[in-house]
Amino acid sequence: MRFATLRILKRLGLDAVEAEDGIQALELFRSEKPDLVLIDVQMPGMDGLEVVRRIRQQSTEHWVPVIFLTSMEDDADFTRGIEAGGDDYLTKPVSPVVLEAKIRAMRRLDDMRRELMAVTLELREANERLARLSTQDGLTGLANRRRFDLELMRELGRARREHRPIALVMADVDYFKAFNDAYGHPAGDECLRKIAAALRTACRRPVDVAARYGGEEFALILPDTTEDAARHCAAEARRAVAALGIAHRGSEVADIVTVSFGVTGCVPDDHVVADTLVDQADRALYAAKRAGRNLAIAYSDLPLPGLPPPGGEPAAPGAILH
Ligand code: GH3
Ligand code: MG
Ligand code: MG
Repeated sequence: MRFATLRILKRLGLDAVEAEDGIQALELFRSEKPDLVLIDVQMPGMDGLEVVRRIRQQSTEHWVPVIFLTSMEDDADFTRGIEAGGDDYLTKPVSPVVLEAKIRAMRRLDDMRRELMAVTLELREANERLARLSTQDGLTGLANRRRFDLELMRELGRARREHRPIALVMADVDYFKAFNDAYGHPAGDECLRKIAAALRTACRRPVDVAARYGGEEFALILPDTTEDAARHCAAEARRAVAALGIAHRGSEVADIVTVSFGVTGCVPDDHVVADTLVDQADRALYAAKRAGRNLAIAYSDLPLPGLPPPGGEPAAPGAILH
């Protein structure tokens, strides 16, 4: 039977390898990686159903069409074959015409399956790209506002649960309106891109998130970081921006582009929500602007909220980091 089937396959111009029994069939399946399996249901030792079951278990990713050969025309046998993972049936003796037609049908299915796999893969990649884009700022490549909000909430929750500190740094470019006025909007965009890259270098840990908060404002989420450590991070970011040396003839604080920073940090309890941190960092940032810009100021160095600010004077000199 095998010999006769083999002859038909050869005549159809197909390469075939033959196995003596189920065990050898499994070995050949592994080593030869065939495009199609023709297998008898009844064999000595391991029967065809068991062989196909094992083939299906082994290669869940890669589908290979299986046609069962049987001498019985029994409905139950047919069902068992399909359940074991077979795709079609042929009764012996094998008719060359029917075998050829079934092989062609299987190939067509396989082609369609491959196409479907390719499209699925493309779709998956497109979805991943889309997910990335929806959380990324188009101009700078930093996290966008949406991702900032999500990350801050997530990290704040984690810090609260684990009783660990978390810090937030808000940054705002100094006299940036004047920069646009002096050099034009495209140059302004390029400047924001460079600042973003400099800020990213200042927070290097994989858990840190550098985000574009909006316009010419940036934010750094620093998990597991105290306010004091965050000050140093902000000071480093300030130096990194200054080191870019981007000329700024419209600035009243330097002849290059500078950035002001507001820093806050704490081990959050249930009363500290995301807005609390943003508000604190914002206040510190505002103080940095009032104190002359190109500075980093921490929230804990500000006069206590509720008390009138000392005539809009800068915070204590110790709070200013150059
Ligand atoms: P300050 O030192 O007080 O922060 O002064 P400033 O001029 O930076 O502040 P202001 O908020 O008045 O101006 C912010 C400017 O940032 C105005 C806006 O044109 C500019 N800006 C915001 N987003 C972008 C952007 O995506 N590209 C460019 N080129 N400019 C932007
Ligand atoms: Mg601003
Ligand atoms: Mg500004």
